[in-house]
Amino acid sequence: MPDAAFFDELLLDFCMRHPHLKAELFRFIDVLPVLPPSDVTAHLLEYLGGARDDLPAPIRFSIDVASPSGNVGKIVARAARRNVLRMARRFIAGTNARELIGAIGALRGRRLAVTLDALGEAVLTGREADLYRDQYLSLLRETAPVVSRLSLDPLIDRDHDDSPLPRVNVSVKLSALTPLLDPIDPDGVARDVVPRFAAILDAAAEAGAFVHVDMEQYEKKDLTLALFEEVLGSARYRKTRNVGIVLQAYLRDTERDIARLAEWARRRGAPVWVRLVKGAYWDSETVLARQRGWPVPVWQEKWQTDACYERSSALLLDHSDALRPAFASHNVRSLAHALALARERGLPERFVEFQALYGMADPLKEALVGLGQRVRVYAPFGELIPGMAYLVRRLLENTSNDSFVRREVVEGDARGELLSPPRAPEKAPIPRENAMKSQQNVAPSLDGFENEPLEDFSKAGVRDAYRAAYDSVLRDSGIHCPAVIAGRDVETPERIQSVSPSDTSRTVAASASARAADADLAVQAARAGFAEWRGTPVEERARVLERAAELFGARRRELAAWACLEAGKPWRDADADVAEAMDFCRYYARAARDLFAPERLDGPGEANVTLHAPRGPTVVISPWNFPFAILAGMTTAALVTGNPVLMKPAEQTPACGYHVFRLLREAGVPAGALHFLPGLGEDVGARLVEHPDTATIAFTGSRAVGHLIARRAAETSTGPAGIKRVVLEMGGKNAIIVDDDADLDEAIPAVLGSAFGYAGQKCSACSRVIVLSRIYDAFVARLAESAKAWVTGPAHDPAASVGPLIDRESVDRVNRYAEIGARDGKVVFRGALGPTTARGTFAAPVIVADVPPSSPLAEEEVFGPVLAVMRAANIDEAFALANGTSYALTGGLYSRSPAHIERARRELDVGNLYINRKITGALVARQPFGGHRHSGTGMKAGGRDYLLQFVVARTVTENTLRRGFAPD
Ligand code: NAD
Repeated sequence: MPDAAFFDELLLDFCMRHPHLKAELFRFIDVLPVLPPSDVTAHLLEYLGGARDDLPAPIRFSIDVASPSGNVGKIVARAARRNVLRMARRFIAGTNARELIGAIGALRGRRLAVTLDALGEAVLTGREADLYRDQYLSLLRETAPVVSRLSLDPLIDRDHDDSPLPRVNVSVKLSALTPLLDPIDPDGVARDVVPRFAAILDAAAEAGAFVHVDMEQYEKKDLTLALFEEVLGSARYRKTRNVGIVLQAYLRDTERDIARLAEWARRRGAPVWVRLVKGAYWDSETVLARQRGWPVPVWQEKWQTDACYERSSALLLDHSDALRPAFASHNVRSLAHALALARERGLPERFVEFQALYGMADPLKEALVGLGQRVRVYAPFGELIPGMAYLVRRLLENTSNDSFVRREVVEGDARGELLSPPRAPEKAPIPRENAMKSQQNVAPSLDGFENEPLEDFSKAGVRDAYRAAYDSVLRDSGIHCPAVIAGRDVETPERIQSVSPSDTSRTVAASASARAADADLAVQAARAGFAEWRGTPVEERARVLERAAELFGARRRELAAWACLEAGKPWRDADADVAEAMDFCRYYARAARDLFAPERLDGPGEANVTLHAPRGPTVVISPWNFPFAILAGMTTAALVTGNPVLMKPAEQTPACGYHVFRLLREAGVPAGALHFLPGLGEDVGARLVEHPDTATIAFTGSRAVGHLIARRAAETSTGPAGIKRVVLEMGGKNAIIVDDDADLDEAIPAVLGSAFGYAGQKCSACSRVIVLSRIYDAFVARLAESAKAWVTGPAHDPAASVGPLIDRESVDRVNRYAEIGARDGKVVFRGALGPTTARGTFAAPVIVADVPPSSPLAEEEVFGPVLAVMRAANIDEAFALANGTSYALTGGLYSRSPAHIERARRELDVGNLYINRKITGALVARQPFGGHRHSGTGMKAGGRDYLLQFVVARTVTENTLRRGFAPD
């Protein structure tokens, strides 16, 4: 049975000896507090059971004796939970005001000052942001009077010049003052954050308290600094001296930020404090930047961070007229260095202060106090359960390979080495476990193919460039897009107008509307062009695609602006659409080189080879929702394999289609190999499908049209090309299961993002969320409340998170399903349509709870922002519900049960399964995409096999035995 020594004494030792189990153990600790006692033992077994022999005796014993349902299991569960909570308590100063005041008193007794930080769940709703603010307001009001009555200690209550220092000091996270701190929309964030932040500043001023702004992920850094400067530079607060902000030495930007902040503080006319820390999110900053292909913002080696800390210390002290440094670290060398520098510069004692975390590095704190230094303890407070993430961070810090604490305490590194200046180690650096692991997991795909990185909209320059590109495309709108057959523009009697879904009074393009006769001409031209194109070496065809990728890249923002205008895509989605088109070009270029390399299968006395050859004229019919990526993906796959292509874009997005066509021609596709036929599906599309001389049809679109195409293609496979091959990518009714141990802080934003991103108009969008009964009510309430942060508005407005629907018909369909939802279930959220939506085709997003499996809302694809919530009694039922439609496209699971995750891999019948992340945004090569059953014919776009659909394979055998002898 685990006793009080369970974690404290064994943990460090255990993690050091078994780094591979450390992650499992911490994941168990992370989930433990939300589990009912009956589920604890099962989780313990799932996380650690497989490593029984490596476990410390008490845990091994628990595993051996505990059956999840038995009494021993329950006792184990309670003991484990008690121990974890006790451990959390070591790092958390109190759960209520009384405990907190007690802790402050105790710390002051040890001559330690305090800064208080409210722990909590991630803030997902406006109400939660209000609660976070209120927590600070009452903290300031309740603690200030009590603490002010405690006896004065000049060491912590007086500054270097004997002026009083606030006794109450709080640390605030700006991200907790708004449900959506998205740096793409700084003005919107400011509107939400500033009033709540100002309320805290006012209460602090009234209580004579100090407010320190914490720093979090890199993505939010510039915005956090901007908000801090905006508020504290305003007339109302510019004289306030009792304020500070955090800078993180692990960021490469930090020295620049210090210099900028100092200039600002000088202009402001009153200094601000800067807490210099090392930084708490090294692993995630590294992994996320690598995942996104962005420059990694943090130093990659620990000694570089330490060195940056020392340079930043010096810089802060150089700007001591504007910045007041607070050095926060547990590294003796870093702090000693800062203190020595301060003395060297002749600054008065206690001009700088030192900070350390509650429950850690106590000898260091005492030593500093002994030296007459002011030490402030960063003390988190609040509920222990939401505080688990904080606990896991502390445990990680204590057990990480290169943490000072661990090297000092556990490994007993020589004092001289620990205190020497940071420099590159002579031996190879100790690998940072998690980041290394994630790198190793990236399988090399087709010789180092790398995805085109998406734009980083937290950068002001990128946002400005998008705005400018959109304005310029607006000026160009109204273009004419002819049909193009064999390089000649073809006019048609009818025209199709595309309009902006954000403002339907704006015409984007007038395109030709090709008819059956045009289709016939184009097929004839494609047949004529076939020989030349199939005879072009694959290397040349591949290079054409790579040139196309470059051209897409060169016009990336302009093209994204066309998608924003014509398809109603918000910035991020529009940018991702163009980037994916580039990925398809580059990936299929590589894949074709592989595929067309002859495959030799020699046997004794014979030379065997399998060769691939194009199938013939290929029809590409694409939808409007990825007007670049899907059209370019299907077209380039067919082209690079040597097929001439008849390209039919969706009638809603001819301008985007025309750009793809022109760009491919510019990249070098000959006129005979690519023909552009904008027009209506039932006219030109149907004729292309049925024409006896088309060999392959690549279609992406709705299920109804896909089925029709499959039937018509079979019926018309009478020409010399033989039986037509039909490649279908169709719709989905995608579900995310939310298990009862899921991390809702993560699941809720991911569900909303998957359901409402691009107004639900992605084939991969989440349209059902299946929630386990035990957490169902709490989940639905928080989901509905959180959805309020999703504002509907024009696609080009970064303040809008839900854009328009593609056309009026879609709006009517969405509204019809919303009515069905009201009939069959309970509408728990219906978004508002603001004044900016008056000119476009908008529908309010809707969440319907209690949807029964029999409802059309549980089976039919809506293709809009309508989310059905379904209740499942247990995980078996959840899997059954998820698999209970005729689609099989995408799906997801949020769970912290390894056993359920494993089952999902086996049992959830979808083409793309996502575990503990959103279910949209598949990347070429990394997540080859496509569904089966009624979602598609099963080959993955952006995967190794995709090109096989566009070729025939021919095997040639030559007898090499002649007259009794064979060559070597
Ligand atoms: P849609 O089926 O209405 O149209 C798709 C294309 O088919 C258009 O170009 C259209 O003109 C053409 N078409 C229509 N009738 C035709 C006919 N009789 N013969 C030949 N062509 C015809 O689909 P949409 O509204 O453009 O797109 C939305 C649908 O696409 C959704 O169902 C979505 O799930 C699906 N989709 C699937 C994927 C995937 O990868 N699985 C990706 C994107 C979209």
